[in-house]
Amino acid sequence: MIGSVPERLAKNRYDLDEEPHIEVDQEAVRRTGAGPLLVRICPAHVYTAEPDGTVGVAWAACLECGTCLALAPAGTVRWHYPRGGFGVAFREG
Ligand code: SF4
Repeated sequence: MIGSVPERLAKNRYDLDEEPHIEVDQEAVRRTGAGPLLVRICPAHVYTAEPDGTVGVAWAACLECGTCLALAPAGTVRWHYPRGGFGVAFREG
């Protein structure tokens, strides 16, 4: 096995896809008031409330759990899996 000790002990490993796999329609979020919901439901804290009232998206930290896809009001979030081979890899603890 190769890699540093922290890499070897990590439970999750990310192969970052430079192409974002999550987009937020800021106008739809504003219209539906979904911002606080998005910030609250994501276990990886991907969505953040920005000072200007928009929702930030740190898509690289996504755990691909699908919660936002299931609970976000229609049209607020465009989500798809990262391209093949990219994204999170879960490892045994
Ligand atoms: Fe967060 Fe899960 Fe949505 Fe990824 S799929 S952004 S981890 S709620």
